[in-house]
Formats: sequence, structure tokens, C-alpha cells
Amino acid sequence: MIDRTQTPRTAPALARTPEELAHLRLELGGRVALVPTMGALHDGHRALMATAREQADAFVVSVFVNPLQFGPGEDYERYPRDLDADMAVCAEEGAALVFAPSVEDMYPGEQIVRIDPGAMGRVLEGEFRPGFFSGVLTVVNKLFNLVRPDVAVFGQKDAQQLALVRRMARDLNMPVAIAAAPTMRDPDNLASSSRNAYLAPEERRSALALSRALLSGADASVTGPVGILSAARAVLDEAAAGDPPVTVDYLSLVDANTFAEVPGDFRGDAVLLVAARVGQTRLIDNVPLTL
Ligand code: AMP
Repeated sequence: MIDRTQTPRTAPALARTPEELAHLRLELGGRVALVPTMGALHDGHRALMATAREQADAFVVSVFVNPLQFGPGEDYERYPRDLDADMAVCAEEGAALVFAPSVEDMYPGEQIVRIDPGAMGRVLEGEFRPGFFSGVLTVVNKLFNLVRPDVAVFGQKDAQQLALVRRMARDLNMPVAIAAAPTMRDPDNLASSSRNAYLAPEERRSALALSRALLSGADASVTGPVGILSAARAVLDEAAAGDPPVTVDYLSLVDANTFAEVPGDFRGDAVLLVAARVGQTRLIDNVPLTL
């Protein structure tokens, strides 16, 4: 749970342009962390900020709904945006600086050069959202260059994104450490997400099948990959017949390092992942498992 009893800290400085950021960045001494977000900040983002506090002397939060990572027909236009509320959360969590640029400032011309996430970016989320990881890695690379953090913090909630960012930093020799924060959940166990705001109460009830399926899979972990997947699948099959129904995009058990599906005799760090749609809302969740 997030501790909200702490006294509010000084309000962070706000940079609206790369130029303002460059100027304000000079005032940050010591080790600096970056927490990249798309705003509509919730407990998951607070967990990243707590990790940033532990890892650095000062931290910067970026708030930017990145058009490059949304496909046609996705929710770019209606994605929740509330900078005042986000500033209040950043103040409570002790951010030194918030970087909230406009689309025009981030992409003044066509973004011709982009990061290619490779094969690991074409499976799972990459299969269902073509171009998504290229958009994510490109904006993360731009944010690294603009903020020049010593460490950047990402959430386990987006496990494939975290793995790809780690891989990008390694493969491209980026001078930044990547830190992870565990998945935060609402009291009903739904993984906290800005997109949960889209869910009507009955949709939210159906959506709880995602975390239930993962728990069921985790409980079956001694039975190995086949048992894990069938335990999770049983919960999702029931939810597929529910009202409103849960429509599964994928359920997969992958090697935590490569995101390749694990063989039946796999031993090591794995991740059980699910993506599903309830009404118009697409949700993802995962649980790390050691087999
Ligand atoms: P977003 O604003 O949804 O793009 O997420 C920004 C960062 O917050 C990413 O690193 C996410 O993985 C992380 N994040 C989002 N939701 C959660 C959560 N429930 N728990 C932990 N981290 C999260």
C-alpha cells in the first residue's frame, strides 16, 4: 500500500518545453532519476516515484501522452489528461521537476528515425499493437537524451516494455541504469492503470478475472508450464462466458529475459502474461514466476 501520511513536499518545477527542461535540469545536483509516464497518475506511478527516491538524490517525472505509440482506432484522443492533478501527486511524492511537453515540442517535424525493438517487440503486445514498442522505445530514447538521467524507473506492470527498455539500454550502450518497481494493485486486486477509469462497474467486475487467472496460474506453479497455463485458462474461459464478457488477446508464459514462450521443462525466471478486452477497454496484467 502507498503511505499517504507523509507531509507534502515543495512543489516541483514545471518544464513545458525542452528548452525549459535544459535550463531547470542544470539545477539538479547529484544522481538524477527519471520516471517516464503518460500522466493520469495513480498508485502504480507513485510506486515508481518511491523507487526513484531510493535510487537518486532528485527525480524528474515526465508526463507525455506519446502519439507515436498509439495505433489507429486506439484511445489516443480520449486518454485521460489532468496535469494539475498530476502535479499534486508529483509534489506529494517529492519530484524535483515535471517535464510535460506538447506534441509539437516533442515531434516538431516528422519522426523519421525510430528505434526498432526487434523480434522481442513483435510478439505479445507487439503482435496486437503493431508499432507500439517502436513508439515506446523511440520516446524513451528521446526522454533519456533530454533529461540525461543516471537511472530511469519502469513498472513491472508493463513487463514486456520493461524488458525491452533494459535490452535497448544494453544493446545501444545507453549510459543509464534501469530500475523496476513492482505492480501496484487496487484493493480489489485489479492492477492500477490509467485506463481503469474507462471501466463501468460491471466491466470492472468482469475485469477482475485477469488477476484471478494469474493468481490461479501462480498457485499451480509446481505443476510446471502446462499446469500453470491450464489453471489460468480455466478462469479466463469462465470469464469469456460472463456478462460482460472478457475477450482474451493472449495468455502466455514466457522466459523473463527473452519473452519467448517457455518449453514444458523450463527452469528459471518466467512471466505469466495476460491481455484482454472488456467492452471498449483493453487491459494487461502479469505475474513473475520462478519455475
Ligand atoms: P503509463 O503512464 O501507463 O505509460 O505508465 C508509466 C509507467 O508506470 C510505466 O513504467 C508503467 O509500467 C508504470 N506503471 C503503470 N501502472 C503500474 C502499476 N499498476 N504498478 C506499477 N507500475 C505501473
